Amino acid sequence: MAKRDYYDVLGVNKSASPEELKSAYRKLAIKYHPDKNPGDKVAEDKFKEASEAYGVLSDKSKKENYDNFGHAAFENGGAGRGGFGGFGGFSGADFSDIFEDFFGDFGGGGRRSSRKNSNNRGSDLRYDLSISLEEAYTGKKQNIQFSTTEKCNSCKGNGSKPGYSPDRCTYCGGNGRVRSNQGFFTVQQTCPQCAGSGEEITNPCNECGGQGNKQTSKKISVTIPKGVDDGTRIRLAGKGEAGTRGGTSGDLYLFINVDSHELFKRSDVNLFYEFPISIADAALGTTIEVPTIDGGKAKIKIPDGTQNGKQFRLKGKGMPFMRRGDFGDLYIQIKTEVPMTLNKEQKELLERFRKIDNERSNPSIKKFFQKAKNFWKN
Ligand SMILES: [Zn+2]
Ligand SMILES: [Zn+2]
Repeated sequence: MAKRDYYDVLGVNKSASPEELKSAYRKLAIKYHPDKNPGDKVAEDKFKEASEAYGVLSDKSKKENYDNFGHAAFENGGAGRGGFGGFGGFSGADFSDIFEDFFGDFGGGGRRSSRKNSNNRGSDLRYDLSISLEEAYTGKKQNIQFSTTEKCNSCKGNGSKPGYSPDRCTYCGGNGRVRSNQGFFTVQQTCPQCAGSGEEITNPCNECGGQGNKQTSKKISVTIPKGVDDGTRIRLAGKGEAGTRGGTSGDLYLFINVDSHELFKRSDVNLFYEFPISIADAALGTTIEVPTIDGGKAKIKIPDGTQNGKQFRLKGKGMPFMRRGDFGDLYIQIKTEVPMTLNKEQKELLERFRKIDNERSNPSIKKFFQKAKNFWKN
């Protein structure tokens, strides 16, 4: 049988705007929707036909192909497979939009059960944990204690007194969803009575009052991996609050706060600090011993004539990369300190030094005065 023209199917002309297409499709979809026409094969075919047409015409590039080549554009595994099975090939956005708006859980049973679970899913929890930079370097195991809910032992989580089971919800008849008419179409909503579970507790458990879970204080051991940074979030799946009546547990999120360190500053995986040395050490050169985050020391040779601000890099002495074997670097910046107070002997020595100081030992001073002289001359 020859396929009908998509524009004819929707009853619009070729210049119809996206809004006109959507509105035309909406009318047909509502009229022929299988929910409204159970067992009606003709309506089902019309619905599929309209869905296929809209699937193509609502997608800019598919519409262009169709306008140029007609149905031939989609013949070899293209989008035009039609019907429910074909939805995957269409641009989903406009469909879900329409179906969410007008038909609720039109997708059927599979979706409802996932909805049911998500309604009963336990809450996620947040736990803030402060650790030192050294602990972030080594990683650690830590016991944490927090208040949460756990499945009630007495009723095994179903909320009913032992020996009783939940009844079907009288409000929704066990569907978990209720329909209501809004204007000319039907909307499905989660049942307000049972929150989508489809069940009603008629003989509530004495321990938990029918909730299926109860408040408790939980202690667990958590592993903080090496290399965590300030703000790192660790998800512990299923360690949050218990779900209600068979729902899954929520997750526990550990928010890591790494305290600032009095010596090391951190930037991602690199560490940094200023190392003060005397002008004599800077001028004559020396070897310094510097602290490293692993608690040890490293030696750095400071050559003679080292200027203030000179940086030295110790490769691999920074923080570990999370879940990797390697490390960042440690940067040490030299800060030459001019002596603040001098005793008599030091003063005499420096006075002598000043007298015998020559231009060669301070090249930038010489350079600056040369420029200044030129400036004054002009
Ligand atoms: Zn209970
Ligand atoms: Zn209900």
